[in-house]
Amino acid sequence: MSMKEDNFADWYLDIVEKAGLSDKRYPIKGMNVWTPYGWKIMRQIDTYIREEFDATDHDEVCFPLMIPETEFAKEKDHIKGFDEEVYWVTHAGLNELDVRLVIRPTSETAMYPMFSLWIRSHQDLPLKTYQIVNTFRYETKQTRPFIRVREIHFFESHTCHVSEEDAQLQVEEDIEILERIAKKICLPYTLLVRTEWDKFPGAHYTVGIDTSMPNGRTLQMGSIHHYRTNFSVPYDITYEDENGEHKHAHQTTFGMSERLVGALIGVHGDDQGLVMPPGIAPFQAVIIPILSKKNADEVLAASKALMSALSAAGIRVKLDDRDDRPGSKYYDWEIKGVPLRLELGARDIENNVVSFARRDTGEKGAIALDDLVPGVRMILDDISDNMLARATEVQKSRVQDIDSTENIPQDKILRFGWCGCEECGHKFEDTFDFKILGTPYHPEEYQGKCIICGKPVDKPAYAAHTM
Ligand code: ZN
Repeated sequence: MSMKEDNFADWYLDIVEKAGLSDKRYPIKGMNVWTPYGWKIMRQIDTYIREEFDATDHDEVCFPLMIPETEFAKEKDHIKGFDEEVYWVTHAGLNELDVRLVIRPTSETAMYPMFSLWIRSHQDLPLKTYQIVNTFRYETKQTRPFIRVREIHFFESHTCHVSEEDAQLQVEEDIEILERIAKKICLPYTLLVRTEWDKFPGAHYTVGIDTSMPNGRTLQMGSIHHYRTNFSVPYDITYEDENGEHKHAHQTTFGMSERLVGALIGVHGDDQGLVMPPGIAPFQAVIIPILSKKNADEVLAASKALMSALSAAGIRVKLDDRDDRPGSKYYDWEIKGVPLRLELGARDIENNVVSFARRDTGEKGAIALDDLVPGVRMILDDISDNMLARATEVQKSRVQDIDSTENIPQDKILRFGWCGCEECGHKFEDTFDFKILGTPYHPEEYQGKCIICGKPVDKPAYAAHTM
């Protein structure tokens, strides 16, 4: 295994392969195969996302993959933003199509012509929908599993509201949902309002959700957008209000992708492999029976009983009864990052305990069998807390305040004054080859000067190299 600190890029690819997350040998570059363990992780995340959005009155939908060019082209900024990175279907069988079809890069232009039919009156609002589907983008930069791919496993919610204020409340709800999801995956993140030139094509504003990776670069894991009526006008999404007046709906979207998997690999993994957050680990605990010739049956039976008891309590557990040495099993489950390893041998049974080892800290100990379920739960909770605290600490340590453009550290997230004007912004980005991530969505106390023009400012901007 490559070392994380020395060479993040190689280490990352190594983990993806050795933990069995994805196979990039599929004969289309950037379209990778989800292999069983990777797909189990993604499904855990999807399941949790569904729970959250169902619980907040969103309805799951599933739209067609293809979009006619005529619909795709209706919002002019949107098509300008995506033109160069979409796949086109030009033929059906032997016939050339009159209207080319886009393979969805995101689903605004698939959904909104239908929303226009679905929404009639203010009583149809808010309309809150989401889907989990694959989207396609022709990436020209070097691809990397989960982080930059051409077929993307994607979550997107789309909502319509009576007013700008209502849509703004949806953004607030999205942020609350995000907080719970990120906690489940133990991922710290920042919420930054993107610059005008970096916002989603067609959006009124975009909030980027970034985390930082061990190579000092930030990774955008998702984004939330307020569209105002930028799409409802071209797509004619109107409703009749109480007074019989026709108005355009205000819209929002929230998108996240398989980059969450890329983030959790990068943020939590170590030189032994993955470290899975208990909240979404396909297996939260693995049981390794420590067998000898004379007690094999007894230990195996006790291990099965242990598994049943934990499963019945809703803990995701795997019994590894393969005919192999315990040491080699430890190694396999360490690479896969299973949070808690339980070892059961004749002596443990005698003492009425099960031995454990934590993946996050390596700490070892024993849990009384009489106290099994609460004992395991307590350790899993503690692992979650520890992983989030550790990752948050690391993320904080990567942010550096700068007040001049001399000796800018290359491996940090920069916090500095920026007057907000495009000229200063572009000058900063072009001169120092950093990308401005934006300004804090939640206000931060700050007094400083624009790093380019010197004008006094009272909110900071953040910039970084990005993945
Ligand atoms: Zn300035």
